[in-house]
Amino acid sequence: MMLERAIVIGSGAGGLVAARELQKKYMVTIIEEGGPFYPYTSGIGLMEGLKKTGMFFSEKQLKVINPAIRVLKTRPDGIVVIKGVGLGGSTPLSTGCFVRMDDELKRLGLDLDIELNELLNEIPISTQNEKQWRPITRKMFDICNEMDLNPQPLPRMANGLLCRQCGQCMFGCPFGAKWDTRHFLPYANALGAKLVNWCRVEEIKIEDGRAIGVIAKSGWSKKFFPADLVILAAGGLGTPIILKNSGIEMEPSLYINPIQCVAAEIKDSFQVNEVQIPFVVQKEFFQIAPYFDYVSFFFNSRWKYKARNIVSLMVQILDSQEGEVTEKGINKALGKNESNRLKEGISLGMEILKKMGVEEEKIFTGTLTAWTPGGMMALDEKSIKELHLPQLPENVYITDATILPRSLSNFPLFTIMALAKRIAKICLNKII
Ligand SMILES: Cc1cc2nc3c(=O)[nH]c(=O)nc-3n(C[C@H](O)[C@H](O)[C@H](O)COP(=O)(O)OP(=O)(O)OC[C@H]3O[C@@H](n4cnc5c(N)ncnc54)[C@H](O)[C@@H]3O)c2cc1C
Ligand code: SF4
Repeated sequence: MMLERAIVIGSGAGGLVAARELQKKYMVTIIEEGGPFYPYTSGIGLMEGLKKTGMFFSEKQLKVINPAIRVLKTRPDGIVVIKGVGLGGSTPLSTGCFVRMDDELKRLGLDLDIELNELLNEIPISTQNEKQWRPITRKMFDICNEMDLNPQPLPRMANGLLCRQCGQCMFGCPFGAKWDTRHFLPYANALGAKLVNWCRVEEIKIEDGRAIGVIAKSGWSKKFFPADLVILAAGGLGTPIILKNSGIEMEPSLYINPIQCVAAEIKDSFQVNEVQIPFVVQKEFFQIAPYFDYVSFFFNSRWKYKARNIVSLMVQILDSQEGEVTEKGINKALGKNESNRLKEGISLGMEILKKMGVEEEKIFTGTLTAWTPGGMMALDEKSIKELHLPQLPENVYITDATILPRSLSNFPLFTIMALAKRIAKICLNKII
């Protein structure tokens, strides 16, 4: 019997998880815009040296440190949005914080316990890093406790014993400690899945309401890949563009969850040499966590101190769902509510720093950034059962952050992977 052909677009969180599942019954081809991922291995010393030469002037130059990093800037506010392009998508850049955030899906009627438990059996989860916290982090944690902020240490998707606390999670792990979805590729390959690198899907070809394949560009040439099933996993910024090119309209409901850091000089604190986001304080509309902000360190003139002497807290807000991504870029304005949430978070961060002995005048803020875009076609009560959006042809599914409701979007990785697993199972049972 001829196997049905499935095309998976993108090899990030939602892509490789789905590919691996689908390979059980489909002939899977994963089409990936980028190439293999290599971590940056040279350490902060070299980066600081490069910074001193004055060669860093635009955030887009983060590519110099790791070519898998892509930076887009929102209009009109110029928020720096970071994503990964290449094998593993944004997951090799992620700080690897493992947070289960599926309450909203449960409320909508979806129980992902089985998939989440399956993932927990496959992915190493470590709580080891708490034992390795630097004194500065322990002090911040204790202060947050004294302030009744209920700080929570964060487990990581990592082999904690291999972690050397280099603090470079967002440039890829040079010691192989951090887990990312590239680990699923050999399993998918072993079952026959094929990976096509350096190939950008432009549109889904639809005939009589069904997808018949995708058109992709590789170098100068275009190629048609026939398919019986298309899985869109090009990420919260990639999938909407493919949908638009395919004539499928969406609401302008993009969230990005902006981040701003609040920081100070504290001599020999060495926060830079520690795993990023060791703990988090969750508030209703924002979260706050220790986080050395490389974007501000390289490109923001207020961050003029040596890396080892900077202590920084990130404030990440829950965003509005107003905005869109197009081929030309991201249109997204920071609304009044979001500005107020940021202000509230920053002033809490300042309180924490002041309790650590920093004078208020010496506190400085960082550049507005973001790295959890999604929501352009979020799941709702109607689509939660089938996990299929009615705007899509019946043989097209989305398994990335595009379908994630906003309230789950602060640490979305684990939920995206569980959703991708469930959707792949639905496709396996149906053989569409
Ligand atoms: C610096 C950073 C730190 C983060 N830290 C955490 C964390 O600690 N915890 C957490 O839960 N989340 C974290 N995240 C977020 C998390 O990594 C993302 O939310 C998640 O990877 C999104 O998964 P996705 O499948 O939607 O997209 P991605 O993982 O981004 O994958 C999309 C893939 O599609 C490919 N692609 C795009 N367009 C096309 C096209 N047209 N054709 C072919 N391929 C295409 C891309 O190259 C990419 O491989 C972090 C992200 C970043 C950038
Ligand atoms: S801090 Fe640990 S997990 Fe992060 S990159 Fe360094 S060794 Fe890897």
